[in-house]
Amino acid sequence: MAADTVPVTGWGRTAPTAARLIRPRTYGEAALAVRDCGARGGIARGLGRAYGDAAQNAGGAVLDMTGLDRVHAIDADGGTVLCDAGVSLHRLMQVLLPLGWFVPVTPGTRYVTVGGAIGADIHGKNHHVSGSFSRHVLSLELLTADGDVRTVVPGTPLFEATAGGMGLTGVILTATVRLQPVQTSLMSVDTERANDLDDLMARLADTDHRYRYSVAWIDLLARGRATGRAVLTRGDHAPLDALPPGTRARRDPLSFRTSRLPAAPSFLPEGLLSRTTVGLFNELWYRRAPRARTGQLQRIPAFFHPLDGVPHWNRVYGPGGFVQYQFVVGHGREDALRRIVRRISERRCPSFLAVLKRFGEADPGWLSFPVPGWTLALDIPAALPGLAGFLDELDEEVAGAGGRVYLAKDSRLRPELLAAMYPRLADFRALRAELDPRAVFTSDLSRRLHL
Ligand SMILES: Cc1cc2nc3c(=O)[nH]c(=O)nc-3n(C[C@H](O)[C@H](O)[C@H](O)COP(=O)(O)OP(=O)(O)OC[C@H]3O[C@@H](n4cnc5c(N)ncnc54)[C@H](O)[C@@H]3O)c2cc1C
Repeated sequence: MAADTVPVTGWGRTAPTAARLIRPRTYGEAALAVRDCGARGGIARGLGRAYGDAAQNAGGAVLDMTGLDRVHAIDADGGTVLCDAGVSLHRLMQVLLPLGWFVPVTPGTRYVTVGGAIGADIHGKNHHVSGSFSRHVLSLELLTADGDVRTVVPGTPLFEATAGGMGLTGVILTATVRLQPVQTSLMSVDTERANDLDDLMARLADTDHRYRYSVAWIDLLARGRATGRAVLTRGDHAPLDALPPGTRARRDPLSFRTSRLPAAPSFLPEGLLSRTTVGLFNELWYRRAPRARTGQLQRIPAFFHPLDGVPHWNRVYGPGGFVQYQFVVGHGREDALRRIVRRISERRCPSFLAVLKRFGEADPGWLSFPVPGWTLALDIPAALPGLAGFLDELDEEVAGAGGRVYLAKDSRLRPELLAAMYPRLADFRALRAELDPRAVFTSDLSRRLHL
């Protein structure tokens, strides 16, 4: 198999490292690539939407799994799909929606693979109801370091290490996933504004249970009494009778249409997203949102994946790229969330459209990110002066409150804090040492954090 050595980055485009990029087209080729990956090891990669260094491997091999992208079987009565791990959620939506099924969990982009969804145990706007992606995985096939292909099912240590295990237990080849039934491909959406962080938390805590999907876009540049002001968008799949009779939508209720704007140019100057431009954007966006509106019909891309409409939108941060910082702190630690939000808004980080969400019950993945509580995610240009030290301080605050940062977004956490954030880390390391004693599966993330 041909393998070029190329620079590989995460979605944030920070810290590219060179690796041999191999694109297996068969399971046999994937097994050969693992066997021959050499002293620096190898790591599976999906669509590269992890923001940091999880799917990079300096000096080693990176297995681009998107060449294995077959949908093998759909049980349209029972609501399950068996597919290769390189299939994207976008493709699954194209295939499944016309049959009345939706993916059980989608992140803020549908350009992620099933392998990446399990590897990071991703969560969506429905975490408080449906948990994270791996909760809906009925079984998977895992190519391990010894060249075996194992069938792995929930309730076993290997499943729990693989769900959220960032590709470090092996290469997922296929998965069987339970689906969500839908009557239409439209969403019925309620929108409301919150005046500040306490108002926002109260609204989410009081009424989230009424909605399958819930998220708040928060203005982290607002200060003073407006600190933490936000727009909540919450909703569910629209039932058929919510679509107006006689309309195209009613005639073809399960059609899945997407549109894309021209891609962001490949070169954009640093500093395009200054405090002034982002502040203006946030102000406009907050003022334009309705104070309260119910039952608006929205298409799936508009509700779940607004950024997917602009290919390569990650270039707007300029050549230096950007860091996405996402953490969670448990219920009862709202004090820590308040302090962190205040610090971010006082620091004037030019972050547009940060997201706050309430997580529900945790899933069993040992390195799975969600725990019941509050999660905040924000983008920050990597070139912001003093950013590293500032985020180190936030990490301390998060760890001190018993919280954690999300490894799929991370590119800079210090390893000392990891064990406090992920109490099952020792189990994960022990399982890896036994399953893969030569550390065949290795990534820049695993080297940096001693996973
Ligand atoms: C705009 C945007 C919005 C996002 N919103 C969310 C969100 O709401 N919730 C959320 O949880 N995440 C979110 N993410 C992060 C994204 O969902 C995860 O990083 C996901 O893992 C990316 O999948 P991928 O296919 O691109 O995998 P990659 O980024 O290529 O890899 C991610 C990890 O999965 C592993 N992996 C990939 N394929 C396999 C395989 N076949 N076998 C074993 N391991 C594998 C890799 O080794 C790596 O550790 C978002 C990302 C973007 C860019």
